[in-house]
Amino acid sequence: NTELTQEWLQNYVDDWVKFYRKHTTDGKLASYIPQLEKADPNALGIVIIGNNGMTIQSGDIDTTFSIQSVSKVFAFIVACMQRGMSYVLNRVDVEPTGEAFNSIMHLEMKKIEKPFNPLVNAGAITVTSLLEGKTSDEKLEGIFQLFEKILGHRPELDIEVYESERETSIRNRAIGYFLLETGVLESDLEITLETYFKQCSIEVSAEDLARLGLILANDGIDRMTGEEVIPTQIARLAKVLMLTCGMYDASGKFAAYVGIPAKSGVSGGIMATVPPRARDELLPFMDGCGIGVYGPALDKQGNSTAGIRLLRHIASHWDLSIF
Ligand code: GLU
Repeated sequence: NTELTQEWLQNYVDDWVKFYRKHTTDGKLASYIPQLEKADPNALGIVIIGNNGMTIQSGDIDTTFSIQSVSKVFAFIVACMQRGMSYVLNRVDVEPTGEAFNSIMHLEMKKIEKPFNPLVNAGAITVTSLLEGKTSDEKLEGIFQLFEKILGHRPELDIEVYESERETSIRNRAIGYFLLETGVLESDLEITLETYFKQCSIEVSAEDLARLGLILANDGIDRMTGEEVIPTQIARLAKVLMLTCGMYDASGKFAAYVGIPAKSGVSGGIMATVPPRARDELLPFMDGCGIGVYGPALDKQGNSTAGIRLLRHIASHWDLSIF
């Protein structure tokens, strides 16, 4: 009986959000810009939207936050849609780095021709430079249009976050100048960086992240309308990148212990995607779901400390691993 199941799942998730909220105190808010330090360090919220038509939401789900690094997945998708996948992959690789997301070391030390992957800053800035358009707003338009299609509304830009990102951007500028020297950037550096800071400042909710995760779970197809919103090949590659590089330098552990493609960001958001799997007994959400988590207290690797514990718990108890 669906109603009973829904009620049971809701209580279950409520209980575990309450439990894992205690773990928020193990983490710290990102502090490189003042806006992120204004977040409630004890916040924890989760939204799960399933192909089975069920939505479970619990905890701090009304808070909006800047999307930050989760945007890198969509900048990559849009660049591939606009320029073709091979064009983009000729300019950015698909290898995990094992270094911090904003590392500059691997660019120089390994004498690489192209950045390691689209989810570290060097790769993300390169991808952003490939987006169609002359100005930063034109370049962002593709991302906004895709979001509008998936979310049903056009998200806003958090101007304060954007301005702070721009002002505190020494490291990203350094990466940008390095990339300029290697010749992989296809747009003016200033415009590329402006676009990158703006894409990181797009305001979302946990529900938005769940919806974005759900479309990827379904290989880019909107199950309600049957429309291919993201070409399947591109959606699949995005999930590979999320699995191998999406959780900073804890991506290996996340793949091992949680086992679902996910991308996190410094504001505490996690977008996770559970592709449908055929099983003898179909437990709830095994038929695919998108999960959005918000928990701004971060661990040392930069992932939501309570958020990854909550995801690990739910994924193992509901057998959501893709493996
Ligand atoms: N705006 C941040 C940066 O590029 C995003 C970092 C992140 O979420 O990982 O430094």
